[in-house]
Amino acid sequence: MTLTEKLLARAAGKARVVAGENIWVKTDVLMTHDVCGPGTIGVFKREFGKDARVWDRQRVVIIPDHYIFTADSKSNRNVDILRDFAREQSLPYFYDVIDDPSGHWKFDASKGLLRRQYGSQYAGVCHAALPQKGHTRPGEVLFGTDSHTCMAGAFNEFATGIGNTDAGFVMGTGKLLIKVPETMRFRLEGRLQPGVMAKDLILHIIGEIGFDGATYRAMQFDGPGVASLSMDDRMTVANMAIEAGGKNGIFPFDARTAEYVESRTRLNGTRSHYEPVEPDPGQSFCYELVVELDKLEPTVACHPDPGQRKRAKDMRDVRLDRAYIGSCTGGKTSDFVEFARVIRGRRVAIDTFGVPATPEIVHELQTTRWDGQTVWDIMVHAGVQMTENAGCAACLGGPVDTFGRMNTPMKCISATNRNFPGRMGHKDSQVFLASPATVAASALAGHVEDPRALVGA
Ligand code: SF4
Repeated sequence: MTLTEKLLARAAGKARVVAGENIWVKTDVLMTHDVCGPGTIGVFKREFGKDARVWDRQRVVIIPDHYIFTADSKSNRNVDILRDFAREQSLPYFYDVIDDPSGHWKFDASKGLLRRQYGSQYAGVCHAALPQKGHTRPGEVLFGTDSHTCMAGAFNEFATGIGNTDAGFVMGTGKLLIKVPETMRFRLEGRLQPGVMAKDLILHIIGEIGFDGATYRAMQFDGPGVASLSMDDRMTVANMAIEAGGKNGIFPFDARTAEYVESRTRLNGTRSHYEPVEPDPGQSFCYELVVELDKLEPTVACHPDPGQRKRAKDMRDVRLDRAYIGSCTGGKTSDFVEFARVIRGRRVAIDTFGVPATPEIVHELQTTRWDGQTVWDIMVHAGVQMTENAGCAACLGGPVDTFGRMNTPMKCISATNRNFPGRMGHKDSQVFLASPATVAASALAGHVEDPRALVGA
């Protein structure tokens, strides 16, 4: 069995499963957020009764993150609905925007979009927050009401996005009926060269198979090249499995996984026991591709979908209006560090927005120093508009007052993960997906640029 099949067999209490089989699996963690949480809660109450209790309050994680820093009253109200539900159900893992458990969330636009407006519990973008807060464990099943839930596959777990109806059912029962996906194998060899990042790897793969090339399939990333990828790198890759239509993305377990998971569960006091799945000798794949990491180059996914692959160096004639670094995929500490490595001592030529994924990342950027200067200050001095309000921000457009949103037609190069028309705001805008290093080089040049000549020590 492949990693995904093994994991699902265990979750179904079976010795063996095969692709295409429908099985009931038990859920280890259910995650929801402010966009889908109210709908999920509505389904749960409608189907299980207004006084029903969730199946296991330790396994429901609620993370508001999407439409948070906006004066839009309905978006603010969604956070209040989550808070009411968390209080009613005594949920220990609700990462509220405010500290008052009986208060109301209201974004204060008069304070501007840059200064932080959240309390001590706020966790930021759900997919980055889940591992940071110790909710990702090898061998587990994670369902989330968000398509990029697949990011947790970096930790050797089965993680996938589900709709509100399924999530309402999981909330009441802890189980879900799913079809076992076929597995595509991507065997990684060698290591990435300077100026080439994990984002280039996944954009290369999606370009190879198309934005629907993995529809309802598991994408297994393995081979000797995995060892050279950090956990942040693996998260970037697994995150974008859905951009090829994948059901899930999954990595093998190794010492790096263990180190991350154990430090995070210890820090946050979450469940620390886990049982990884190891590869079987005779795995059967529906597709196999060897990727030589050394040969990858800075890659861009052009408008209008993540499968429109080109090399950055072949796109210098594409002039840009905006650059954006942020999101679960591209707003991690390591993403900002690579961006800062390129722009240090230089100045961006176009409007450039920076949105860290989580408050913890904000803290790291504001305390990590290079020659006495913090990464945050390097960004700001280069002309990047950095907000402390960690969250999804303009990655998915959001209400019109969202930081970095494209409210007019423009061309933007972005470290985010999705570029379908209208994704970051105006439907006539064009979004070019790239690595943080390529976004940085392009922000300096004002057109798409290969970062390799600018990557310093
Ligand atoms: S940062 Fe973007 S991709 Fe990630 S969860 Fe938020 S909206 Fe979705």
